[in-house]
Amino acid sequence: MTDSDFPEFRMGSVLATSFTATLTERCGDRVERIPVPHRLVDWLAVSGLIVESCSDSELRHAQELREAVHLAATAIAAQDPLPSPAVALINSCSEDGRAVPLLGAAGRKEWRLRSGSVRDALSVIAADAISIVSGERQGRLALCASPTCRAAFFDTSRGGTRRWCEMSTCGNREKKSRFLANKRAATSLTK
Ligand SMILES: [Zn+2]
Repeated sequence: MTDSDFPEFRMGSVLATSFTATLTERCGDRVERIPVPHRLVDWLAVSGLIVESCSDSELRHAQELREAVHLAATAIAAQDPLPSPAVALINSCSEDGRAVPLLGAAGRKEWRLRSGSVRDALSVIAADAISIVSGERQGRLALCASPTCRAAFFDTSRGGTRRWCEMSTCGNREKKSRFLANKRAATSLTK
C-alpha cells in the first residue's frame, strides 16, 4: 500500500487536538488516520517530531494516549469532572519521554527527542494536552457541533464562538445539509 491509500491527516494549529483528530467521526463512521505504525511516524514527522521507528505496541500506546486526551478535553468542554484513568495515562506519557525545546533558525520552536523514540514524541503531545486541558493557554476547549464528529477542539477565535472542529470539513458539511433542508422545505411549500 502507498501512503495515498491511507486517509489523509487533518492538521490544525494545536498539537494535542491535531493528534486527537487522527481518529475522526467518532460518533459516526469512524476514520482511523493512523492505522499502521508507519503512518504514526509520518504524522509525527509532519508535526515536527522525528522518530526513528514505531512498533505495533507503540502505535497502540499512542492511540491510547490519543483517546485519553480526547476524553479529558471532552470533559473540560462539557464541564464534567476529569476522568482519572485518562489523567493518569496523560501524566505517565508526559513523564515517560524526554524531549527538549529548541529555538530553530527561523525563530520557531523545535523539539529534539532525546532518544528519537515514539515515547519521547508522546511526552511532547501529553505536555501539550496538559497545557490546554489545564486552561493555562488562551482559548477554550469546545466540542464540534457535527453530531457524527463531536471532536474536541481548541477555540482561539476572538469571541470564542467557533462551532466546528474544522470549517473545511464539518462546517461545510453542516452548511450544505442546512442548505438542502431549506431547499426541500421551500419546494414543499410551493407544491
Ligand atoms: Zn467536527
